[in-house]
Parts: sequence; C-alpha cells; structure tokens
Amino acid sequence: MTQTLRTIREVHDAFDQKRLSPMELTREYLRAIGASRHNAFLTVCEERALGQAKVAEALLAREGRVPRERLPLLGVPLAIKDNLVIDSIRTTCASRILENYVPPYTATCVARLEAAGAVTLGKTSLDEFAMGGSNENSAFGPVLHPTHPDRVPGGSSGGSATAVGAGLCVAALGSDTGGSIRLPASYCGVVGVKPTYGGVSRYGLVAFASSLDQVGPMANSVEDAALLLEVMGGHDPRDSTSAVAAATPARDALGEPDWRGLRIGVPEEFFVEGLAPEVERATRAALSWFEKEGAKLVPVRLPHAKHSVAVYYLIAVSEASSNLARFDGVRYGTRPSGEERDLAAFYRKARAGFGAEVKRRIILGTFALSSGYAEAYYRRACQVRRLIKDDFDRAFEKVDLIAGPVSPGTAFKLGEKLTDPLRMYLNDIFTIPANLAGLPALSVPNGKDAHGLPIGLQLLAPQFGEARLLGAAHAFEKGRA
Ligand code: GLN
Repeated sequence: MTQTLRTIREVHDAFDQKRLSPMELTREYLRAIGASRHNAFLTVCEERALGQAKVAEALLAREGRVPRERLPLLGVPLAIKDNLVIDSIRTTCASRILENYVPPYTATCVARLEAAGAVTLGKTSLDEFAMGGSNENSAFGPVLHPTHPDRVPGGSSGGSATAVGAGLCVAALGSDTGGSIRLPASYCGVVGVKPTYGGVSRYGLVAFASSLDQVGPMANSVEDAALLLEVMGGHDPRDSTSAVAAATPARDALGEPDWRGLRIGVPEEFFVEGLAPEVERATRAALSWFEKEGAKLVPVRLPHAKHSVAVYYLIAVSEASSNLARFDGVRYGTRPSGEERDLAAFYRKARAGFGAEVKRRIILGTFALSSGYAEAYYRRACQVRRLIKDDFDRAFEKVDLIAGPVSPGTAFKLGEKLTDPLRMYLNDIFTIPANLAGLPALSVPNGKDAHGLPIGLQLLAPQFGEARLLGAAHAFEKGRA
C-alpha cells in the first residue's frame, strides 16, 4: 500500500474513502522502514509517529473527511533530515560528536508541518553536518540509492531522497547549502525544492553555512512540494533572516503558466565540457518541450558562474569553521572525560569526534579567515559572490526562469569519488550558483539514462519567484508524463 500511495492527494483520498486509516498507514511505513536495507533513517520515532497518527485518526473520525484547508497534512507520514531538531528526539547530524544529543526544542519548519497534521516517522541520514554530495560522509554508514544499491543517492540530503524514492515516507525535508536538496532529488528521481534564501525559517536547523543554508521539501510530486513549502514557509520571529514578505501561497501557482509570455533563459555556462551526453540530451529535450508549449528560449550569460565552486568552497568552509566552533565538548558535543585539567587536550579529544571531511573544512575555513589571508580569500570570495548575483539579476531582466541540468552526471557508484574531494566538489557546479545568489531553484524528474538512473531538470527563478517556478515544474511534470 505504501508503494501505491505516493502523494498527499492519494493518501487523503484513501482516508476519505475509508480505504485506509492514518494509524494503518503509519504502521505500514514503520514496517517498510524496518524492513528496508537502504540505511536511510538514523532514528525512527515510532512513539511520536503513532501518537500523531492516533490524533489524526480521531480527528478524521470526527470530521468524516480530511479538512484539507485547515489540516492540509493530516495523517501524512514525513521524514526529516537529521540536522533539523525535534524536541526529545535524538539529532545527530550524522556525526559521532552528536551521537547522543537530544534537543529540547523543535525547528519551526517541523513544528509547522506537525501543526498541519503531519506524522513524523523519523530522522534521515545525511553527509556529516550536511557536508558532501553522496551521503558517504555519514558517520553511520552510506545510504543506498533507492533502486540501484551499488550507487549513491546523492547528498547531503541522501537519506531523505532515498526515503521518498523508496516509498519509506510520503515526503521529506532536506536542507540545501550548495545543492543538497536538488542533487539527491535528481539522483533519486524525486522533486526537490530549494526556496529563496529567507523563505523558510532556519530556526532549529543546525547551521552549516548560515548565509547559504535553506530548508526545503522533497516529494513525489511538485504539488506536494508546493504544499509543504506553503505550510512551513513565511516569517518566523525566531529567525531574523526569514523573510517578512508574505509567503506566496504556492499551490495557487499550479495552474497552467502563461506559456506565450514565458521566457526561459538558457545559460551557455550550464552546457560545459564534462556534462554527460545523456544529461545534456535530456536537458535539451526538456527545453524543446517548453518551447513547444509556447515558451520562448532565450540565451543568457552568467560569466562569473565558472567561479562558483571556488567561491562556495571558501565561503561555506569559512562559515562552517565559525558555526562548528560550538561543538567543543562544553556547549555541544560529547564531553570527554579525564581531560579536565588540560584545555587543549580536552578540545583535541572532544573534536576528534568529527569525521575527515568536516575536519578538512574547519581547517580550510580557519585558514581562509585567518588574519593576513582573510582579505585574499574570504573577502575576495564575497566580492565574486556579488558578481555572480549581479549576473543573475541581469539575466532575470530578460527572462522569467532559467533552466539547466542539476548535475553533470547521474548517480555514481559508491566509493567512486570518495578519495578525490575535488572531483566531489566539482559535482556541485550547477547547483551552487542559486545558493550564492539566494535564488529559489528546484529539481524535477526529467527521464532516465541508459542504466535506468534518473536525470533531474533544474529550474531557477528570481528571489521569491517560487510561484512561477513551481507552476512551470508542475506543468512539465504533468506534460512529460
Ligand atoms: N555538496 C555541497 C557540499 O559539500 C553541498 C552541501 C549542501 O548543500 N549541504 O558542501
């Protein structure tokens, strides 16, 4: 049953028609998670899930049918990336250093989903502190791709992508600092949306790079992603960077876009050497589909985009080195015993809990921010970041959306890039620009390669252009099916 009910609409129809109850559905998902070999979940919160399902069941019995306006997620089982905190549920960030951390509060985005009736099944795996693109950097073992167990699901929100793709939840939350929602969504054949910076509260998201991090939905349909976004988005007084502008009711946007007026920018910088021929073919075919519908394809230039990876890996590591200073065994992190008299030894022992990639980034970031080098590296990176954003501003004077690939290739083999961090970093080349510029962007399934591995199409919009973004993706999803 969980394999056949893929979307919120299908779940709610089943509830309305009394084919299935919220308790039965939740139990089925818990069973499926228990039987799965994907290693997608780090913590299953059975008690919380069954408690929420029970409440949903009682409400449904009283109302007769799902009150879709008031409780749009009633009884819908979700999975949450394990860098979002939930009161009394272990949050590890897939790190040994937080192996036993139980937070005393709940992230705003999760609280809003639960208030809309959602059932929280558990916490999904990720690359440690969201640093990575394959989910192989988890301290608790890699996550397997939903259909190809010798492949990675992508990262860092790989657990959430696999959970959605393998039918272990209806939808999930991920976080995207440089592509961590869109990349795994494209590898696993699901929809993933990175909202405008400030669109969703970061309160309760364990910070990686605060000027880039955004929480977003991963789902089996654009409609579901839009609904999740609508429920959790909007200003939160607890996050001063969350936007005050009223959130666009995202679902309203899902009608047909006005194709005749729609201009889609095609940056030549997104069709570079190294792009797998099958991904290029699929992307061009998608562009032709939009054109056939009546949209106009417009070549645009993003001349500074080629610096994105370098800029990102300076800014992200710099912010990370500062954010992760709190994991010192005193404020957060496992407290080492027997080192109370020697502070340096205490820190050394406490911070030995970080994995290799996290250590690499803390060291790089500390270097990039150190006196004498900050001007040459960090400051310079911030300046180029601005140029990258200006390129987008200029492009969006001429076009409504920008389209391109999500990743140069499809899901790669486990271990294939693990020993070469630079190759792994280059894999983020098409996703990073949206984070640097604070733009909303998404990945929507766009066919498969010869191995049957999903390919994603990336669409980007101007800030707070989620309505247009989701509307076009929804039409594409329906039209191409
Ligand atoms: N792969 C990128 C990195 O390793 C992006 C991670 C993310 O978006 N959280 O930093």
